[in-house]
Amino acid sequence: MQNRICENIDKIKAEIEHTCAKCSRNPENIKLLAVSKYFPAEDIITLYNHGHRFFAENKAQELRDKIKVTPEDIEWHFIGSIQTNKIKYLIPNVSLIHSVSREKEIAEISKKAVYENIIQDFLIEVNISGEESKSGLNPDKVKKFADYCNNLKNIRLKGFMTMAPFDSDEKELHKIFGSLRNMRDEFNSYDKNITELSMGMSGDFKIALEEGATILRIGSSIFGTRNY
Ligand SMILES: *Cc1c(COP(=O)(O)O)cnc(C)c1O
Repeated sequence: MQNRICENIDKIKAEIEHTCAKCSRNPENIKLLAVSKYFPAEDIITLYNHGHRFFAENKAQELRDKIKVTPEDIEWHFIGSIQTNKIKYLIPNVSLIHSVSREKEIAEISKKAVYENIIQDFLIEVNISGEESKSGLNPDKVKKFADYCNNLKNIRLKGFMTMAPFDSDEKELHKIFGSLRNMRDEFNSYDKNITELSMGMSGDFKIALEEGATILRIGSSIFGTRNY
């Protein structure tokens, strides 16, 4: 079991390097998050002992419980839907919150960051495809939301996150990920803090890399199929 997870992440890393070489990108500029949701802390420790330090969870309580039993120097990311009453489990534990799309969420994050006396980095989740079932802000609402965030204390917008619909073909994936990159570039032209593009999962990370992803969120290709 342990070997399989380590072999899987080595394989993904090799694929990232290969894809980066093809599109003239430096793989050192890509952060690979191992999405450990639904998998036990032992699997996280296995990867930790293999040298991996970047992990992501999508449930606040599961994250809190895993932080208690895993090494302190893991860099945690939160990629799930945000419940304001559970923000206390995220701050100050996570280095980046990927999934912000509502005023009341970011207001609460700001409040807790002020209380903890830290600056909390976050991404705005964008629903590029406009698919109803997907979470995230519609692209035309992002500017107004970013302006709202700008007036809050102790938070820093670092970029954008998106999830593509599972049934997208390659052409659609290029379009979705390319649109998010264009949005990042536009924001970056007046705010140099805005650099990150969290896009690409097990099934679509190569196309996301070609379109400029800086953070990949990969679960099942590393840990195996999840039992929900
Ligand atoms: C579960 C999850 C992932 C990882 O998905 P895989 O297909 O298992 O790689 C990425 N992003 C988010 C937001 C997720 O919830």
